[in-house]
Amino acid sequence: MVQAKTWILKQHFEGFPKDTDFELKLEQLSEPRDGEVLLEAVFLSVDPYMRPFSRVRMQAGDVMIGTQVAKVIQSNNPSFPVGCHVVSRCGWRTHTVSAESDITNILDDWPQDVSLSHALGAIGMPGLTALYGLEEVCAIKPGETLLVNAAAGAVGSVAGQIAKLKGCKVVGSAGSDDKVAYLKELGFDQAFNYKTVPSLEEALKNASPEGYDCYFENVGGPFSSVAILQMKVFGRIAVCGGISLYNDTTPQTGPYPHLQMIFKQLKMEGFLVGRWEHKNDESLKRMLTWMQEGNLKCKEHVTVGFENMPAAFMGMLRGENIGKAIVKV
Ligand code: NDP
Repeated sequence: MVQAKTWILKQHFEGFPKDTDFELKLEQLSEPRDGEVLLEAVFLSVDPYMRPFSRVRMQAGDVMIGTQVAKVIQSNNPSFPVGCHVVSRCGWRTHTVSAESDITNILDDWPQDVSLSHALGAIGMPGLTALYGLEEVCAIKPGETLLVNAAAGAVGSVAGQIAKLKGCKVVGSAGSDDKVAYLKELGFDQAFNYKTVPSLEEALKNASPEGYDCYFENVGGPFSSVAILQMKVFGRIAVCGGISLYNDTTPQTGPYPHLQMIFKQLKMEGFLVGRWEHKNDESLKRMLTWMQEGNLKCKEHVTVGFENMPAAFMGMLRGENIGKAIVKV
């Protein structure tokens, strides 16, 4: 009988997560039944959404939500033979007995020289988020100027590179000088450290004096209030995330964007990546091709050891990651 290690949300987070909010537990797994498989985690993802979703999708005592790349180590399902790898939404667990409905195959023609961990990053949910935010929400066009914040992260770094591929000017903001250097390496036209610029308004104006057509919003809060002032008439804002708000204990208030939105006739649309799930196969293939051609570069920030899941999660929320934050078991 296999024993799984799991990370439990011991109590709901209040403010920034703490070590004591998590508990490592052991669980005895039953044998997989007909149609089921036994999975062993290889890479696990830590993502910002886990913070706000924990409040609405989880109860104290639940296994932390999350996605992993796992290897099938026992199978009663011919579609998932022993040795194949899958993406599973089974949470922070080392081993899982899983039904077919809870797992998806990694792309058939996944190249040998591309780490499977990218199925949790650029060639996975964060990459798709970047693509759909630009194509479906912003409907970005060649020659336009894009602003993206949290730009050195999993979603932001891909969004900026896709916009470059589409012939746009790209301005990125990130929280350290190393991250800014990385954005320049990736081909961003302008990048700045939002923590050290004397004035965010001036930094945005200097980076693009003519303003912004599109704004890929990952952060929210005061950054957003200043950025909206720099939008061009008929600008489009894809509201992907608001990480600066996730750990707030009291909601932040204005300035409110209404007048800017009216006078500049802005379009602001929130979205969840799952809306375009029917396009995922084709989209992932497209991004894998860009990666193989060298047009999509994807750094990873890898933490080793399942026991370090909470530390990796909190580190990502603090901004320690350049690129996708991953845990390797
Ligand atoms: P990242 O890899 O970008 O990691 C999070 C980053 O956020 C940190 O590295 C840090 O970078 C930045 N950050 C943390 N706190 C703050 C703060 N107070 N102010 C500004 N920046 C902060 O994460 P992802 O790429 O996975 O996610 C980016 C955003 O996209 C998140 O808001 C997430 O919730 C959202 N998202 C939305 C999806 C959707 O379907 N709508 C799907 C996936 C993600 P820095 O050093 O630059 O501050």
